Amino acid sequence: MIFSIRTDNPHRHYIQIEARFQISHIDSFIFQLSSWRPGRYELGNFAKNVRKFKVLNSWGEELNFQKLNKDRWEIYLPHASNELEEFIIQYEYFGVTLDAGSSFLDHLQLYINPVNCLGYVESLKNQPIQLYIHIPDLYNYGGALKINKALSKEHVKVLEANDFEHLADSPFIFSPELKSYNFKNAKTDFYIHINGANTLDINRFISDVNAYTETQTQIFGELPCDDYHYLIHFLPWHYRHGVEHSNSTVIVEGPGNEFHTEENYRDLLAICSHELFHLWNIKRIRPSEMWPYDYTKENYSKLGYVYEGITTYYGDYALLKSKVFSFQNYLEQFNKDLQRHFDNEGRYNYSVAESSWDTWLDGYVPGSPGRKVSIYVEGMLSALWLDLSLRLKSSHQINLDLFMRDLYENTWKINSPYTEELLHQIISSYDEEIANNWFQLFVHGKAYIEKLLPEILLEYGLILEPNPSPLFWENNYGMKISFSEKYPRITHVLEGSNADLAGISTNVHILSINGIDGDDSNTQKDLFKGNDLLLIKTPFDTRLIQLNSDQKNIHYQKWELKKIELASETQKTNFENWSGHKFD
Ligand SMILES: [Zn+2]
Repeated sequence: MIFSIRTDNPHRHYIQIEARFQISHIDSFIFQLSSWRPGRYELGNFAKNVRKFKVLNSWGEELNFQKLNKDRWEIYLPHASNELEEFIIQYEYFGVTLDAGSSFLDHLQLYINPVNCLGYVESLKNQPIQLYIHIPDLYNYGGALKINKALSKEHVKVLEANDFEHLADSPFIFSPELKSYNFKNAKTDFYIHINGANTLDINRFISDVNAYTETQTQIFGELPCDDYHYLIHFLPWHYRHGVEHSNSTVIVEGPGNEFHTEENYRDLLAICSHELFHLWNIKRIRPSEMWPYDYTKENYSKLGYVYEGITTYYGDYALLKSKVFSFQNYLEQFNKDLQRHFDNEGRYNYSVAESSWDTWLDGYVPGSPGRKVSIYVEGMLSALWLDLSLRLKSSHQINLDLFMRDLYENTWKINSPYTEELLHQIISSYDEEIANNWFQLFVHGKAYIEKLLPEILLEYGLILEPNPSPLFWENNYGMKISFSEKYPRITHVLEGSNADLAGISTNVHILSINGIDGDDSNTQKDLFKGNDLLLIKTPFDTRLIQLNSDQKNIHYQKWELKKIELASETQKTNFENWSGHKFD
């Protein structure tokens, strides 16, 4: 199959796509555009970006087709043929979203995630693919697909993929501004392709990427690819998104002119380390439900606590272990996730396994309050408990690294996926009680993290500590408020909090506090004094609500993980074994 890609009027954001291929013996065939993209376990509905779809035979005659569903076309041939015959599918794809999983075209770049804009003819899915990209010669290329130099010519670069799976998994960028850097780690060539203005210290970045790569590679014993590509877009506005691939990742962060600051720099490292860990955990170690990926529909799985949760744990842990992060740096990342855990009442209502299944329903939006949990956050905290428990019970002979290594050996290395049964079997071979507790309580149970995690953390000289929220309305009323609009908007209300008991809903505005209408967000914040009287505006009426500011009822707290002050030698040794850092 040969794709030809043109960018005739880049300011319109439409990418012109043409697919040429030969088939025979048929009276109809199927063309499919992916319904979703691996890495985001929800439907993507990419076909909504397609226009001017048509199919031609080699004589240039248009063929009839009909859509069987939102992203599946059936094309009818006037007569069945025993001869190989050439067909051409043409369409335009609207590439206007610049995140880590979309496609984007303007006068400065062509950025393609093939999984969302390049479809496949079902019977040809496993055949090699060539992409003829019509692009000015001054545009630099970054991506994992190789350029065929012999076929490329002036204004045309030819990229090659082994099959659709390979193509779908290989995003690329063409841009005159694109800068590429490379270095070697063990036998693998690493490339960092950066697009967009930024203040990143590239030499420091390469050195840190090298360090966490070593740590991650040691876990699995090998880097399973010859070359690996970081495709990094820096945007002028706040943004954070990363998507993993088999030997590349796309990362979008912003604002690019703030990456000299330690906080943003560390955040970039955290996302890069997370995505690299996916190189093993999901791109190779993969659940049976996605082995292979089915691009036509939802690939439901309860195992998100492995592919996103354990990856989230290791993304930061590898930075700690490789000494790129100090323990204080690690805590800053960890405490953000910890806060997300404690702020979410969904942990009382839905397990992480159930939430994994439902990513296809509402996994990437806040959704109904208190309904579900994050597979990233709950999976990470569950992985921490598992790691610390295995270490403690085996006097540090067994740990999560060993589990990941065994999982890799028992799946990817023997060309096989995993199931929950296999995970259970491997952990049980280390310790049956830990395996049973992990699956029953952390994976399928609800709200066990705060019951069981503190006990194991204490063995490592660490405590989970609640502090009063510094925000008066969170601490006293159990509600969160956004001050970004003219009138403050109540965004969350905890069930059983003073705000809830007073009858306050979410998404209502506060017109005045104690009779005073604040002019801006600063004065509005200062109007809370205690036992406040709010004038609330709902879509249908306004009403006065009297709040009670005692703290007897549930309210928001600020949580942090900390070292205890007087740790014993055993606690210190446990900590040092796990973290690779001195306790003091
Ligand atoms: Zn991830």
